[in-house]
Amino acid sequence: MALGTATDPYELRFDTGRICLDLIATTHPVERLDSLEALRAWITGSGLVPPGTPLAHADTAWLTGFRELRGETARLVRARPASRTRRYDLALARVNELSRAAPPAPRAVPGEDGALVRELTGPPQCAALLGALARDAVELLTDPAARASLRQCEGDNCPIVYVDTSRGRRRRWCSSEICGNRERVARHRRRAALAR
Ligand SMILES: [Zn+2]
Repeated sequence: MALGTATDPYELRFDTGRICLDLIATTHPVERLDSLEALRAWITGSGLVPPGTPLAHADTAWLTGFRELRGETARLVRARPASRTRRYDLALARVNELSRAAPPAPRAVPGEDGALVRELTGPPQCAALLGALARDAVELLTDPAARASLRQCEGDNCPIVYVDTSRGRRRRWCSSEICGNRERVARHRRRAALAR
């Protein structure tokens, strides 16, 4: 079981069910997008680009852009409809603006064994990647069924928001290996303390 690596604060996670929520999760438990190396690993690991896509041209402006979109998306996802503020409206305008950029164009090419593989038509630009993320946020926020399935993890101080697609909609944790396991350990300790 990969418990050791799953709880590593620097391990990137992609388990919220939506790429825009995976982006929001990169603030927890510490800033994960703290270097270009980490950002490149996130972009590839999240599936935003096919494996092997060149990202050497990413610079620090990308980090700023991704973090900004992350903050605006988090504000929209966590807001209650009744609590609209000027800051909310600004976040909405920003995400809508970023969403106007076309995402990177994919194409299918024969791989080494002849099976088709996906690649981009060229090295992706930052605006195109932010466009893809912003579009995912727009789709999520305007989809009543997806919105109704949004949950915040029940773990102590865990801010991660995910889409609950489990059968019966009973998923309580961002990850059963991390927050779920922490709760099981805590319950066991409480029982052991009572027994004494
Ligand atoms: Zn959690």
